[in-house]
This record gives sequence, C-alpha cells and structure tokens, in this order.
Amino acid sequence: MNIHEYQARAILRDHGIPVPEGFVAETPGEVRRAAEEIGAQVVVKAQVHAGGRGKAGGVKLASTPAEAQELAGAILGMEIKGHAVRKVLVGPAETIASEAYVGIVLDRAQQADAVMVSPAGGVDIEEVAATNPAAIMTRRIDPRYGLFDHQAGELGRFLYPEAEKAKQARSAAAILQKLYEAYLGSGATLAEINPLIVNGAGEVLAIDAKMNIDDNALFRLPQIEALRDPEAEDPAETAARAAGLSYVRLDGNIGCCVNGAGLAMATMDLVKHYGGEPANFLDIGGSSNPAKVVAALELITADSAVSSVLFNIFGGITRCDDVARGIVQATDSFDLQIPITIRLTGTNQAEGLAILARRGFQALSDMDGAVRAAVELGG
Ligand code: GDP
Ligand code: MN
Repeated sequence: MNIHEYQARAILRDHGIPVPEGFVAETPGEVRRAAEEIGAQVVVKAQVHAGGRGKAGGVKLASTPAEAQELAGAILGMEIKGHAVRKVLVGPAETIASEAYVGIVLDRAQQADAVMVSPAGGVDIEEVAATNPAAIMTRRIDPRYGLFDHQAGELGRFLYPEAEKAKQARSAAAILQKLYEAYLGSGATLAEINPLIVNGAGEVLAIDAKMNIDDNALFRLPQIEALRDPEAEDPAETAARAAGLSYVRLDGNIGCCVNGAGLAMATMDLVKHYGGEPANFLDIGGSSNPAKVVAALELITADSAVSSVLFNIFGGITRCDDVARGIVQATDSFDLQIPITIRLTGTNQAEGLAILARRGFQALSDMDGAVRAAVELGG
C-alpha cells in the first residue's frame, strides 16, 4: 500500500524526525487560508502516489497567499503520472543550503533492511546509482540489533564530511535511527527522505517523505490501514481486494486468471516465452467459489487492452467444476466479446470439462498448448 507524503511526514514527526509543519488542503481557498496562517513564503505540493512531482510541476513556491491560491488552482487540476491531484500540502518554504538522500529499503538479496544515503539528494536516487555510484553509501541492518550507533555515525559523516558540519552529521545519524523505528513500526518496505536538507539556519530537516507499506503487515497495524486512500488507488486493484483476489495490472493484452501465485507467475513467464505480454497477474486463490471466478473475469475484461483471456487452473484444493461453473456464470451474466482459452486439470476435472462442454467451451489439459493458443488469439 502507498501512503501520501503528508501521512508519511506525520509518521516521521511522531518518531521525532524534524519535519516542517504542513496543512492538507483540497481547494485553492483552503490553501490561501493556510498560507495566511503561515504568514511567510510557502510551498504547495501535490499529494499523489507518485514521485517526481517537482519535475512534473506539482511542487511550487509562493510568496503571497494570493499566489499560493493561484498555484493551488493549477496543481489541484493536474494529473501526475496518471494520478489526479485531489489534495495538496501547504507548508512554510524552507531555504535550502544542501539536499541529501536517505532511505531504508527491504533488500531481498541481502535478506535484510538496508540504509542508503547520498549527499547528491533531490534527484532520483536511481539516476545517482547509475551515473555516480560512489556517491551512495549502503549499510545492511542486522534485524536483531537494528541500526548500530557506529553505522548511523558513519552514514551521517558520509553525508556531511566537513569538520564544521559535525553537528549536521550527528543530526543525520539520529534521524536515520528514528527513520528505522518509523519504518519498522509502520510495516514499511520503503521509507525515504529525498531531500533531507540543511536549511538556512543550519538545521537538518526532512522536507519530503515517501513510504511504501507491506500489505501483509496491515492486518496487525489498523492505524496504518486507516491511512489508505481508495480514491488514489487503481480502482481495479480496489475491486480485486474486495473480492479477495490478488491482482496486479500490467501493460500487456493477455488477461490471465490462475489459481495459486506460483502458477500465476509461471503462466506469465510462459505467455512472454511465446511472444505475448500478460495484461495482469491474478491469483484467484486456493478454494475458488464460482463467484470469485465471475469477479475475476469482470476485472480482467474491464481492462480495454485485453484481447484474449487465459484460464490456467490446476485443481488441488480448487475444484475444476467450481471454476467451470464460475466461467459459465460469468459468460452468462455479461456479453464476453473476447476469446477465452481454458486449461483445466486436476480435482473434479471430468465434471468441470463436462460443464464447459455443454456451453461449447473446449478446455485443454496442457498448459503449454493453452498459453500458445491464448497468445495467438490475442493477435
Ligand atoms: P518530488 O519531486 O515528488 O520528490 O517532491 P519533493 O518534495 O522532493 O520536491 C521537489 C523539489 O522541490 C525538492 O528537491 C526541492 O528542490 C524543491 N522544494 C521542495 N520543498 C521546498 C521548499 O520548502 N523550499 C525550497 N526552496 N525548495 C523546495
Ligand atoms: Mn522528493
């Protein structure tokens, strides 16, 4: 799950990280009143689940409340990387003496969380990694002990190596340890401050905050789950969650409906192997009832890019006859214009195939052949 900058800022603030104050607003009038309250130059920032807002024109400085109101009018109508801007954050504009990057991310290869810092902040960290990897320092966090003081100190000094910046180095070290607490306490897989600035008064401050939350941690963190903004999420993924399906939308045209995450991954690999592009990842789960299959087919076909649907069902706990009934119900309840290829094998296979055959569907039992056929039908 993604959360907005203003929500991530609040989490960082709760953990003692210095973050400038901020107001959330949904109309230009509210922005004007917030700017009047602040009584100084302000920054107006689009709140969307996307990075690179600055480059896209979604972060602007305003000298007067009237200017803030006018800028907010423009930003509130914008779309950034496909996300409509519905809220903005208004805060006092900081003077920036330097911009650094600090982030904590789950590093699967290291099987641990990793801290990354760079004095070359403000820009995409991927770009720094590609063009100037020496400007990034990474340290693995031992989950048993957390971030050690000596690691935090070393990272802080890497950001502010000059003797006269010892104070900033110490502040950065303390911020990193608090950031790790915030990351752990929120079930995050990413917590990033870019930029972490030194302001005109020499203080180290977080003026941007980004957190990604592990969906599988939400069941034990109701206060984090409450930060979900359904309006900012992909409607298809919201519908999938409501139906109990694991769905991720992708760019291709072959709609995939599979039982089991592993088989779903293998199916996507095979689609690509035969020259196709999967339109989605979709796992209907272990014990599929017909209603789930109907919901799955609705989801897949709501994506206008889908030109061929592939069912790949290996019945274990999932019963082939349930899936077949779901396909029949779905094709009865809405007029399907797209070719369907069905591979159905395993528990209650004979019953499943019979149900489908009565409706004129020819199901295959071989995965390879089914994927090839679906890719061909997709054009
Ligand atoms: P992002 O582009 O989505 O990562 O949004 P950021 O919050 O990082 O803002 C982008 C850039 O705008 C920053 O790197 C800063 O250079 C600039 N910026 C943001 N807030 C302020 C501010 O308070 N004062 C000044 N002078 N610049 C700011
Ligand atoms: Mn940023």
